[in-house]
Amino acid sequence: MSFKPISEIGEFGLIERLSRIAAPTLKNKPALVEGIGDDCAVYRTGGTSVQVSTTDLLVEQVHFDLLTTPMHHLGSKAISVNVSDVCAMNALPEYALISIAVPKNLPVEMVEQLYAGMAHAASRYGLAIAGGDTSSSPSGLVISVTMTGQAPEERLAYRKGARPGEMVCVSGTLGGSAAGLKLLMRERSIMIDLLRNNETYDKDVMAELQEYSEAIRCHLLPEARIDMVRFFQEAGIVPTAMIDVSDGLTADLRHICRRSGVGAHIDEGRIPILAQARTIADEFQDDAVAWALGGGEDYQLLFTLPKERYDDIAGNREISVIGEILPEEEGMLLTDIFGMTIDLEESAGGFDHFGEQ
Ligand code: ADP
Ligand code: MG
Repeated sequence: MSFKPISEIGEFGLIERLSRIAAPTLKNKPALVEGIGDDCAVYRTGGTSVQVSTTDLLVEQVHFDLLTTPMHHLGSKAISVNVSDVCAMNALPEYALISIAVPKNLPVEMVEQLYAGMAHAASRYGLAIAGGDTSSSPSGLVISVTMTGQAPEERLAYRKGARPGEMVCVSGTLGGSAAGLKLLMRERSIMIDLLRNNETYDKDVMAELQEYSEAIRCHLLPEARIDMVRFFQEAGIVPTAMIDVSDGLTADLRHICRRSGVGAHIDEGRIPILAQARTIADEFQDDAVAWALGGGEDYQLLFTLPKERYDDIAGNREISVIGEILPEEEGMLLTDIFGMTIDLEESAGGFDHFGEQ
């Protein structure tokens, strides 16, 4: 038997193979509305609403670095990224189970700070931390959050409902998280150099970070767009398809396109980029649009709506219409600010846990 390195098939290739192995377990489950493949699993529990559930892992050195991440922020983020998946179904969160694997040398106070951040975020989102599991970890800190939520079945938004001619919309701004991460990584290397040379951390560097606190906040303390779920409810809107932008606009739009069997056209000039991300990109001689497309971790909602619903969203300044859904054979396209059209299918886009970074 020959062994294939995971990097050959990538994260999504691996999930696809594992889904095939798990598929038989999904049979004869009439209450299951949606199994693997969307932001949450969906199942009926007998009441008027359906339940959704999701789980996300945060692994030290993969998702966070303790040199640049305060514990309180990390706890809040662990909750927010799961709430974001619940919101991506147009549902509201209810309960969370928290599992942690903790290195033996981590002080109790730090774990308490992590939980204070989780409890604070949970209260803001109106959900209860109802259990979990605790273990030691031989290497880094690992946090796994599993969350359930609920919504009336007719209000659910899947990745699969987009149709040609519909508007592609996104909430808030993109690119902020990648910009914040760039700054934090630069600070980290400065910090490590100083520590190596037994020097103290330069206060001026901290002052510069203060100036960019919005981008850093986007990275360390993202907010799930539960306000958008409430807005959809008040406006009587159900997005025809929806996903949260965790992997980057290109990769997440691709998920909607694949699941819906459609293509899409995005107008670069309409992508809402965090102003501070543009300033930071200039400083790094990088491209904030590329961060929006491929950076990920912005946790905004990307969704589609029929054009007739434009008036319902026109007054909401948190929503940008960035493009249109096309028939599948037209592919995924981006027209840049110079009017050049680029094939988004060919650009890699998005974070692959097993790819070459
Ligand atoms: P998200 O970015 O919204 O959290 P992922 O890309 O992590 O979604 O996962 C895509 C889909 O694959 C989801 O439906 C998720 O439940 C499923 N999935 C991911 N990893 C596994 C796994 N190891 N086993 C079963 N299903 C998985
Ligand atoms: Mg998601």
